[in-house]
Amino acid sequence: MTDVPLLEAPLLEAVDVAKHYPVKKGLIVARQVGAVRAVDGVSFRLHRGETLALVGESGCGKSTTARLVMRLIEPSAGRVIFRGEDVTTVGGARLRALRRHLQIVFQDPYASLNPRLTVAETIAEPMAVHGIGDAAARRARVADLLRLTGLRPFHAGRYPHEFSGGQRQRIGIARALAVEPEVVVLDEPVSALDVSIQAQVVNLLRDLQGRLGLSYLFIAHDLAVVKHVADRVAVMYLGRIVEVAPKRALFADPRHPYTRALLAAIPRPDPSRRGGVTPLGGDLPSPMAVPPGCRFHTRCPVARPVCREQDPPLREIAPGHTSACHFAEELPRFDAEAGAGLAPAAARRLAAYAAARAARSGAAA
Ligand code: SF4
Repeated sequence: MTDVPLLEAPLLEAVDVAKHYPVKKGLIVARQVGAVRAVDGVSFRLHRGETLALVGESGCGKSTTARLVMRLIEPSAGRVIFRGEDVTTVGGARLRALRRHLQIVFQDPYASLNPRLTVAETIAEPMAVHGIGDAAARRARVADLLRLTGLRPFHAGRYPHEFSGGQRQRIGIARALAVEPEVVVLDEPVSALDVSIQAQVVNLLRDLQGRLGLSYLFIAHDLAVVKHVADRVAVMYLGRIVEVAPKRALFADPRHPYTRALLAAIPRPDPSRRGGVTPLGGDLPSPMAVPPGCRFHTRCPVARPVCREQDPPLREIAPGHTSACHFAEELPRFDAEAGAGLAPAAARRLAAYAAARAARSGAAA
């Protein structure tokens, strides 16, 4: 993590990006009867050396956004600007060249590795695709990457099934770094791992960011992980971003009822402390039937009549802090201590991260 000068031009920018999947009916002549609005006008900026966390409930569109940024799927609307160039309009060799600088690490380290390739072949594959180095240079780079990601030289000749989940995720990270990217999209990179392994992988990612000057778009649903890794946090609800803020501001004084509900939903050791926030009830509405007005009004504990009619824009309420709530400024002060950060599970996770980091620093000393 770093203190990022947010005034400089962003490295990566999403501008009103949308992905709508048409819903069709009819056996002989199919006609469109609606659309699944998986991502519905998402904008954000990622600066050099920064970690921007994109958080929200399962099904809110985070992973679709990650794939749109990588252009693994085509957007229905909007632009993705990387180093001043619109990724959504280029093709062929230019797109391949841009992709070298934009890499992704997937959630499931079991599914994302080819079981028929050795670790060395897996890591070297992106270099071959991009025509980087000859065979000897790639072998040397693979050895460097194994060291960098905490793996051993003898792992190079082994196959994915011979590794634990954490080791496989290290292989996935090494593969992403093989082509020296500037931006790495991390799509729930530790969600499938045990807590102690999560800590090791999160600390590895932080170390790599410091050493290599990487920028991360960190997709997550676990606020404890986000609290540990992010510089800024963007909260997503039903295909849209509803709040963006520096991490400290977001955890200390969230200015959107959905963010508050997410923080309040973290269990606490003392259940008598409620934090003055009603935990979120009900299910996420279907992206096929997005509520009119504020899309959160069907679950919002402080909704007013106007919320059913007027869609609140994402607007700045403090420097660097934006919220899509008509009444963002009127929300009472958030009780940060009662509302977040004291959950036994979250506290265990944070303690594990700190312990793994301390052990790593001790080993390095
Ligand atoms: Fe709740 Fe209204 Fe704010 Fe939406 S605009 S979050 S419904 S108070």
